[in-house]
Amino acid sequence: MNVAEHWHAFEYVGHERPADSLRVDPTNPTPPLEIGHWLRKPARHVAETFTNDDAGRKEASEWMRQGGEEHAPADGDSFPLDARMTYVNDDLQRGADVIWGYYTKKQRYHSRALVACPREGISCPYGR
Ligand SMILES: [Zn+2]
Repeated sequence: MNVAEHWHAFEYVGHERPADSLRVDPTNPTPPLEIGHWLRKPARHVAETFTNDDAGRKEASEWMRQGGEEHAPADGDSFPLDARMTYVNDDLQRGADVIWGYYTKKQRYHSRALVACPREGISCPYGR
């Protein structure tokens, strides 16, 4: 398992969950097939970077919540944002990846990812 020194944050919003043929191309903003492959995307796709310390984890958590508020999940009644955030904060505390990919109430596909970096075999998009 990769324990984050920092997380790179990525976001994707589209009409539907992208086809695998689009997802394999790192120049596309689409969610990749493997979590680590987010880091293969050009740095311009990185929305934010958060350090793994108290302040950074708090900011990272807020960034995820903001996405959940802006793009309310279609199943938000049965799996509310507060419950999702419990998992997010637990993952952050462990230095793990945080990945969301779901359909929204407005029938868009929304993905937000906090990808732990560095990780074995994949270099940091910023060379850190
Ligand atoms: Zn990095």
